[in-house]
Parts: sequence; C-alpha cells; structure tokens
Amino acid sequence: MKLYNLKDHNEQVSFAQAVKQGLGQQQGLFFPLELPAFESTDIDALLEMDFVSRSSKILSAFIGDEIEPAQLQQRVAAAFAFPAPVAAVTDDIACLELFHGPTLAFKDFGGRFMAQMLAFVSGADEQITILTATSGDTGAAVAHAFYGMDNVRVVILYPQGKISPLQEKLFCTLGGNIQTIAVEGDFDDCQALVKQAFDDEALKQAIGLNSANSINISRLLAQVCYYFEAVAQLPQEKRNQLVISVPSGNFGDLTAGLLAKALGLPVKRFIAATNANDTVPRFLADGEWRPHRTVATLSNAMDVSQPNNWPRVEELFRRKTWRLSDLGFGAVTDEATQAAMRELAGLGYVSEPHAAIAWRLLRDQLQDGEYGLFLGTAHPAKFKESVDAILGQSLPLPAALADRVDLPLLSDTLPASFAPLRAFLLQQQQ
Ligand SMILES: *Cc1c(COP(=O)(O)O)cnc(C)c1O
Repeated sequence: MKLYNLKDHNEQVSFAQAVKQGLGQQQGLFFPLELPAFESTDIDALLEMDFVSRSSKILSAFIGDEIEPAQLQQRVAAAFAFPAPVAAVTDDIACLELFHGPTLAFKDFGGRFMAQMLAFVSGADEQITILTATSGDTGAAVAHAFYGMDNVRVVILYPQGKISPLQEKLFCTLGGNIQTIAVEGDFDDCQALVKQAFDDEALKQAIGLNSANSINISRLLAQVCYYFEAVAQLPQEKRNQLVISVPSGNFGDLTAGLLAKALGLPVKRFIAATNANDTVPRFLADGEWRPHRTVATLSNAMDVSQPNNWPRVEELFRRKTWRLSDLGFGAVTDEATQAAMRELAGLGYVSEPHAAIAWRLLRDQLQDGEYGLFLGTAHPAKFKESVDAILGQSLPLPAALADRVDLPLLSDTLPASFAPLRAFLLQQQQ
C-alpha cells in the first residue's frame, strides 16, 4: 500500500511507515494512493462472510502485500474480539452499537487494530512512545489496547476537567506503561501540543514518537470494517436505501464510512452530525471555513472545532468526484440532545448524548422509503452522570467501569504549553 501526504503529494510512504509515523511532513495527513473498489458481486460475497474474515479481506484490499493474509487475519481476530450488533429502534431506524469492546466505545476497534499493526511493523528492540490527545474515548481505547505491551510507552493528553469522571477512571488508573496528563486547556490545546511534538524532529528521534489518535491510517482502515458489518446485518430490501448518520468530532468515523462507500458498500447518503461545535455544518451550508472557539457540550467527545480528519473527507470527495452538497449535515444543541435522549428512551432505547445527536438528525432528515442507521459510539453507562440526570433513572455500571471506579487517578497535570510537555517526555523515559 502506498500513501501520500495531503500537504505534499511527493511524500509517499508504505503502510508500515504511515503506521509508524502517524503524520507526514508539515503535519500532513496520509491518504491512500490507490482507492480499491469491489464489484457488486464481490460486495454480496463479502456480506455473507463472518466479521473477522470479511474485515481481513477489506483490510487486505487496502494494505496489499505488506502483510500476509493469514497473519493479517490473526491480527484482526485479536483486535476485533467483540461484536458490533445492529439494534432496531423503530421500523426504519436502527443503531449500530459500537460499544461492546473493553472501553465501551467505538474507538476500541481503531485503537486495538492500530496496536496490532504497530507491533507488527516495529522491530522487537525498538522503543516507541505513543503520544495522543483525547477528548475522552480515544485515550481509554489506546491505553487499553497498548497496556502491558513491551517497548511501548503511552502518553495521553486530555483537557483537565473536560472529560467525564468515569472516562478519566477508565484510562488514568492503569499505570505501568500508560502515562496520563491533565492539560490545563481544552481538547484543541491538547491536539496542538501533540502536533508541536511531532514537528520537533529532535524529540521525535529521541523518544521514537508515534501518534495513535484518529489521524493514524490504521485506525481509519479498521473503522471501515464495521460499516460492512452493519450492512451485513440488514435485510436485503433495506440495503439499497441506507442513510447513515455519524456523530462527529474529528471526523475519523465519517471518513471511514466514506471509504467504505468508495469500496462499493451501498450507502445512499451520510449525515455529518455535530454538537454546537459546528465548523463543518456551517462550512457545508455556506462554503466558509470559520472555526469558532471550542465550547463544552454534553457530547464532549465531539467538542472539536478544528476537526483534523476533514482534509481527508475533502480529498476523498475530490478523488471520487462526489459532491459535498450530497453530504447531509446538522448541528444539535444540548437542549435538543436531551430531548432526543428522552424520545429514544420513550421508544425503549436508552442512549447517550453522542448517539442521540446522530439519531436526532437522522429522524429529521430520513425520507420515505429510506432506512436509517445511526452510530452508537459509546455505551450509555460511559456517560452515566448525564444519562441518569436526563432520563431520571440510574443505569447499572458495566463491569469494565465498575472495576475501576475506586482506583486512584495517576495523572500528572501540565499547563497548555509545549516546553513543560517536552521536558516531561524527555525526562520520564522508561
Ligand atoms: C470520538 C467520539 C466521537 C467522534 O468521532 P470522530 O471520529 O472523532 O468524529 C463520537 N462519539 C464518541 C462517543 C466518541 O468517543
């Protein structure tokens, strides 16, 4: 597999290099040079396969001969060790539940596959530092995916006080090769710090820097697979009228969905759903890219005003000669999010703020004869505080969370500036 840097098309790398580097020169994102596509008969055959076998075929179509099929399948089986069921909510709308992994969020798919790929492409004696910024869920998924792995040190930045206490417990209590830093700023500040670190060649070399957030290509490719898994679970007659609504922050999930469509998966239309951090919906409405300051919302994993995967979305539309005007979009306020959660509960489906946003726009925009799917990106119990308050009930904690609530937080605190972070990274080497 060859990939090019979106900021400099002359910089081309292999899949292995892209996995190791994360970003290219000038913080450019890597994008596949070839966009594979399946014939519709191949798609039908794929949809008949089991999740792991099908996913291996899909990933193989992208990655090519850099990994042997048997080796890849083994790695995929290790990463995707939990299901992605489709749960019906109404006659014409269902939720693709992506939260049955160890950290109860869809990021387990990308995080665990990335960990497998990084282990595969790295030398056994290579010291790697994973540095990633999280608005909540990426951190947990990455921490758990790499926890206990030899030669990998994981450093996770998150905005202090801006992620849910339970989320914090899930990944800031592990210790060992996992280091967590509460940054005195917002998620964009954390993301900016990570980018600065990647621009620092000396630092990069000294600690073997690697990123594991949604910019790493392996994460995106992994996410393509569950869109196929969703369609495989739908009855034939619904497959051709499919509209998928994606709760979006950094737009990795939407990019993966669009890549699935590019491969040939029958999806009529996508809806890019955001909260009040609506840079993309405003851009799609008036063609002007004007990020505002990030605001805190109930759906905090989507509190991103400069979504870092957006250039990939634009590149894909350009390469496929699709029209951005065909992309559905919308932004949902916290008030409407709460109303959507109550509406869903009334239909017998308990959900959390992120998925509720996608549901809300889907039910508003779905047309007669269409079938709608919204992505359930996190387990409702992961946002227990707000879900309980909004629905006036008390959700039981799943074991993955219950086991961690009483453990002490092990995070360090740093200001939102680069020098202290740099010193931390260099000093506390294992
Ligand atoms: C990360 C996250 C999102 C946003 O996904 P992106 O790929 O960044 O757009 C949505 N919901 C939840 C629960 C998340 O953790």
